[in-house]
Amino acid sequence: METVADYFGCLVFNDEAMRERLPKDIYKSLMKTISRGKDIDINVANSVANAMKTWAVEKGCTHFTHWFQPMTGITAEKHDSFITPVEGGRVLLEFSGKELVKGEPDASSFPNGGIRATFEARGYTAWDPTSYAFIKDDTLYIPTAFCSYTGESLDKKTPLLRSMEAVSAEALKIVHLFGKTDVKSIRTTVGPEQEYFLIDKDDYAKRKDLIYTGRTLIGARAPKGQEMEDHYFGSIKTRVAAYMRDLDKELWKLGINSKTRHNEVAPCQHELAPVFASTNIAVDHNQLTMELMKKVAERHNFACLLHEKPFAGVNGSGKHNNWSLSTDTGSNLLEPGESPMDNAQFLIFLVAVIKATDEYQDLMRCSCASAGNDHRLGASEAPPAIVSMFLGDELTEVLEAIAGERAVSGKGKTSMELGVHVLPKFPKDSTDRNRTSPFAFTGNKFEFRMVGSSFSCAGPNIIINTIVAKSLRSFYEELKDAKDLNAAVAKLVRETYKKHKRIIFNGNNYSDEWVKEAEKRGLLNLRSTPDALDTYISDKNIALFKEFGIFSPVEVHSRYEILNEEYSKTVNIEALTLIDMITRQVIPACSRYSAKLAEGINAKKIAVPGIDCSYEESLVQKITSLINSLAAKSSELERVTKEASKLVGSARAHYTRNSVIPYLDSIRKDADELELLVDSKAWPFPTYGDMLFYVK
Ligand code: ADP
Ligand code: MG
Repeated sequence: METVADYFGCLVFNDEAMRERLPKDIYKSLMKTISRGKDIDINVANSVANAMKTWAVEKGCTHFTHWFQPMTGITAEKHDSFITPVEGGRVLLEFSGKELVKGEPDASSFPNGGIRATFEARGYTAWDPTSYAFIKDDTLYIPTAFCSYTGESLDKKTPLLRSMEAVSAEALKIVHLFGKTDVKSIRTTVGPEQEYFLIDKDDYAKRKDLIYTGRTLIGARAPKGQEMEDHYFGSIKTRVAAYMRDLDKELWKLGINSKTRHNEVAPCQHELAPVFASTNIAVDHNQLTMELMKKVAERHNFACLLHEKPFAGVNGSGKHNNWSLSTDTGSNLLEPGESPMDNAQFLIFLVAVIKATDEYQDLMRCSCASAGNDHRLGASEAPPAIVSMFLGDELTEVLEAIAGERAVSGKGKTSMELGVHVLPKFPKDSTDRNRTSPFAFTGNKFEFRMVGSSFSCAGPNIIINTIVAKSLRSFYEELKDAKDLNAAVAKLVRETYKKHKRIIFNGNNYSDEWVKEAEKRGLLNLRSTPDALDTYISDKNIALFKEFGIFSPVEVHSRYEILNEEYSKTVNIEALTLIDMITRQVIPACSRYSAKLAEGINAKKIAVPGIDCSYEESLVQKITSLINSLAAKSSELERVTKEASKLVGSARAHYTRNSVIPYLDSIRKDADELELLVDSKAWPFPTYGDMLFYVK
């Protein structure tokens, strides 16, 4: 029988394939390019391209594509076939180094935030040799970065690669300070846990809101929700299990290390997590995972919902972004070590993250800001919109002790002076208890839980990498000339912790007390996307991006425009969809039903003079007044959407937040009330009960 090991990575031009198919010197030269970020020689590129093509054609490919990640948050591709016509009406299959290394797609129709006018909209894609090429649908996919012709990045991969380089360079300097000169390179690692919903495809097809917006805009709660907590880790239903099996197989063929799968809290909600990988690979793989989740769902007659909040009243979906740093010698820099020196180094990296998070709370929040995720952040189910960090009691106690210049005491713990004694180990189960924290230390990594399920993880990781690079750079400056490294480290850890400890909160982030407490501490509470985005372009943030070469000021402004625009457009589509559903489905259905009721009342009164029809009469009245209310609100909603469309950028986003969204909410309230009044057979779409409890 064929085992996973037989087909794992069979569609990937991975190290094994390269070793097998490339001449030795070419292979070596390519590896140098990959590990040291050197420019690739054209002869090497030609040779690699030829080997890739031969491999791909043997596996049935006819086309190749540069695969890139524009600001839409999803991926883009344009296919070219390998054929080159030759005399006699025949063709050769060709693929040159030039075609491998660079593509020139028209960039005019991708979001660019005003970087350049359409007439000069040439863009180019550049091969990212650090992410393997792969095969999908008989096409060879080449992961690439996407830039404007003048070199501004138009995608999420370019700044991600820049941020990885920035933090790696700074981390390397620190590690060398601690005497680890054998470490030659450091990479950031990410393991994204992906949540999703599966519902029946037939139900999906009957709801315009799901089709156009990815979430239900109306829908009364079913009598049962998630309160019984019987779904979390519950036994997986046969049909869902078949889907997961199929999905895993597709992912494994693409070399994606899909590892865990389980049911989540809400009914019909599930999670998939891979084994962590280098950040850019993890991002590429997560994009493919999301795409395949949807595709494989179709084969199983499911629709896969990746929206952050497909259903009101039950949990939304996130993408927990687990982040760490690891050396080429195989050590995790967020793992407390065995020796005092290792622990001093660990504490430096730890307080670097603390300082970074406190100083750039705004950017952390921005990296998770979207119309969809606004429904999640701040609701009592996901991390709140306030950025804070969880360290757990043990680690907090260690830092408190260092700050108070006293020894750590307590059961089973070694008393500790920094750099002299050994740090206690922090078992994962003691740090992983708090599920409400936006950014939690979980033993040997940080888990950023604010990220929305439909996000590319590129954005959040660009921010984490860059802000940590900033802390590390300032630490290096402080430590590099220290005569007594231990003393200098102790001082730095102490001072940094004292200055930034307000960002640490180990309690319940869902509680109202925390909101008040956070305000007292002076932490930001950026409730909505437009509020968050306003902070994106502050002088402090623009200077940060510039310092590390992540974004030029022009690029920061372009991203700010794009994010605001995306927010307004998303809500605009929701408004138009809702108006359509209310006017053309809800009102006609309820009107027909109430008219039928009224006719029935009349008939009864003729048949049985003096009969009491008070319940039905009041029902007709209630339904009719809700219809009137819905009609009035829909036309108001239409008016405010038109007003919104006269504005641009941040002004439009704020107007949308303040004037459009309240109508979405209040229309929903009326519609949900109506749904519970009318005959279930008369209701024009599948209900929450149908969708969430249908899958057997
Ligand atoms: P949880 O209890 O949150 O489900 P898991 O142990 O299942 O935690 O890990 C979640 C994710 O974290 C997995 O994708 C895993 O590969 C990833 N992960 C583990 N170690 C690291 C690391 N050093 N860097 C980045 N991600 C990591
Ligand atoms: Mg987790």
